[in-house]
Amino acid sequence: MEKYQHYINGKWVDSVVKGESIIVYDPATEEAVGEISCAVKDDVDLAVESAKKSYESRILVDMPPMERANLMRKIADELRKVSKEGGKILCLENGKLLPAAEFEFVDAANYFDYYSGLTDKIEGRTIPVNSQVMDYTIYEPYGVSAHIVPWNYPISMLARSLSCAFAAGNSTVVKTAELTPLSTASAFAKAIDNAGVPAGLINIICGYGSGAGNDLTAHKDVSQVSFTGSVKTGKAILHAAAERAIPAVVELGGKSAAVVMPDADLDKVVNAAKGAIFGQAGQICSAMSRVIAHKSIKNELVGKLANLATSLKVGHGSEDGTELTPVISEDQLQKIENFSRSGQQAGASVAAGGNRVDRKGYYFEATVFDDVQPEMTIAQEEIFGPVLSVLEFNDQDEAVDIANGTEFGLAAGVFTKDVNQATKMASQLNGGQIYVNSWFTGSVATPFGGYKQSGYSREKGQEAIKSYLQLKNIGIQL
Ligand code: NAD
Repeated sequence: MEKYQHYINGKWVDSVVKGESIIVYDPATEEAVGEISCAVKDDVDLAVESAKKSYESRILVDMPPMERANLMRKIADELRKVSKEGGKILCLENGKLLPAAEFEFVDAANYFDYYSGLTDKIEGRTIPVNSQVMDYTIYEPYGVSAHIVPWNYPISMLARSLSCAFAAGNSTVVKTAELTPLSTASAFAKAIDNAGVPAGLINIICGYGSGAGNDLTAHKDVSQVSFTGSVKTGKAILHAAAERAIPAVVELGGKSAAVVMPDADLDKVVNAAKGAIFGQAGQICSAMSRVIAHKSIKNELVGKLANLATSLKVGHGSEDGTELTPVISEDQLQKIENFSRSGQQAGASVAAGGNRVDRKGYYFEATVFDDVQPEMTIAQEEIFGPVLSVLEFNDQDEAVDIANGTEFGLAAGVFTKDVNQATKMASQLNGGQIYVNSWFTGSVATPFGGYKQSGYSREKGQEAIKSYLQLKNIGIQL
């Protein structure tokens, strides 16, 4: 079995404590696919020390913006070069479709390209105070920026925050998710190394959240944290950041709803559902996990969604034609089974699926629940599996109430041919992103983040860069 290591101070290294390692499994076969060193506190200390030293050397801070941009474009080129080898590893450790795994490296490259364009646009302003004072502002990086990443999009989510922090001039320490660390420690780190990133600017460690994750967030030399993951962990990170009074970007979970109006093109809804709740086995933060359909079209829509769910080809992510991939782990599979059971016990009816698939691997059937009531657990909690809850509404206000009636606010959508209705609803729905007649219309350039418990701050787009910069005001007595 191949062994993987941390990437600290420009070198691949084992953990300080010999023998500390994590075995990573293919969720489709339940077989081990790699072993990686597991960081403990000493390793976290080394990674942070390396980032701190590189920050204090000012190698990135003083690098002319255009040079920093060139370096970032080199990283992007290298990421594209490793997309095939990295994609293969990511497909095995995560279970996702091979093309989607390869695309994560291309997506990562797009983030580095996009933020390379902002390095020379980090501008302050002058402020009129009086004729004897010249007052101006400048933006500066925080110093050591920590990045804690989830397993569902390990490369895309990492690049999303890392590229932005790097463009702003921070040195960084990345903690990968323990379930999917291999592609980051190998192909991603290789791209960083091949691009000639000076040692210490980007350090990558693997370890458990309760160990290395905790130690990293609590480290006295970390000055800013970026976290993408569950609400529960996000709150723990916010507590840890508050303890040290440092800023944190938190991108958390969701229970996003699509409102389907009577005039909607139902095939568009079905088409969106294919990627947005059954793609990636539903393990998507902004998954379209609820459909709120007008009573006049609900039965027809449920029929179409159930046909879609039962038609999906189950298989390994690397096999041509596979449409439904496994969920990440036995634990996750059991959670989904429990949700499914709770839905049925609460009175929802199963229009398709509802059970684990009878084969090796952590597969759950593409599932459509009909007759779901807003207060049911399956309508309130993030299931993070291929499970869609369909609810019914009579009028538009009721639809908005149901859509907004959870603790989350990551995404929401509306399907209608009426542009007035669409814009009205877009302003009424609680969510950081609203999709009309589609799902996932964004790009690296569109700001992304949550309302309510789905988090705050924004990643992606021009808005995100401010999260990695602090503002300094300078007044000169003339
Ligand atoms: P998770 O919260 O369990 O873990 C995320 C990361 O946090 C992992 O690297 C883990 O090791 C680490 N961690 C766990 N406990 C920690 C602690 N106490 N201190 C520091 N680090 C700790 O989430 P997950 O299961 O990996 O990911 C799924 C969740 O992520 C879902 O809720 C999903 O909606 C969310 N997510 C959100 C976005 C977004 O942009 N809003 C994107 C992707 C995933």
